Amino acid sequence: MKSRSTARDEPPTIGALSVLRRWLGFSRRAQQGAHPPKAAAGDVETFAEFLKKQQTLAALCREFGFDAAKVTLSPRTKTFDFLGQCFTSEGQSLPDGRIEIYYDPNMSDARLGCCLAHELQHVRYFAVRDAYRAEEADGPLHRRFAKYAPEALAAQRGVSNYSNEHWDAWKSDAPPKLFFLELEEGDSEPINETIAEVAKALYNWGPDVRINPLWRELHDAINEEYAALRR
Ligand SMILES: [Zn+2]
Repeated sequence: MKSRSTARDEPPTIGALSVLRRWLGFSRRAQQGAHPPKAAAGDVETFAEFLKKQQTLAALCREFGFDAAKVTLSPRTKTFDFLGQCFTSEGQSLPDGRIEIYYDPNMSDARLGCCLAHELQHVRYFAVRDAYRAEEADGPLHRRFAKYAPEALAAQRGVSNYSNEHWDAWKSDAPPKLFFLELEEGDSEPINETIAEVAKALYNWGPDVRINPLWRELHDAINEEYAALRR
């Protein structure tokens, strides 16, 4: 759910062997910590569960038409501070088009699908944002998205609790601008997260879901432009 706008150098983890290596490293590090995990047999069982979830994730990527090699299931838990509270992150999209999902044995396949739908929308948003920022001020993307003025979007706020938390956390006096670097300007990403939550709702409830029409229209416009960029 939480996304970051800074890329990391870490290469994507692909293949069962590197996943196993990463898993063992992770479990060894955990054993050195204050709470030693269960015996080795339990580790193997947990690893089998992890591999199963990884296969489900790869199948979901195929369903979404997204390159499964760009999506990593990470065994580590990622926490982040938000509004003074510590949250566990379900996933993260990076501006270079990679996605990390953080393994949670209690995450159902349905929730995994919702999480991937949300993160994939960030990937599409970043791609269209890059193209928008690379063109002139009167380019075709600027013309198409001109109607989504900051005031118009701010008047709608979010489409879910999660996206409204990002509107609440916005720090700047001016409202967030579409395709601007929201994290840098206001310390949260109301627009980027709201659009990702539209994608999640559409995946979870289907195309007939009742959702704010302006955000739905903007979500669809971004996905059309993303598809055009990839042609
Ligand atoms: Zn997100």
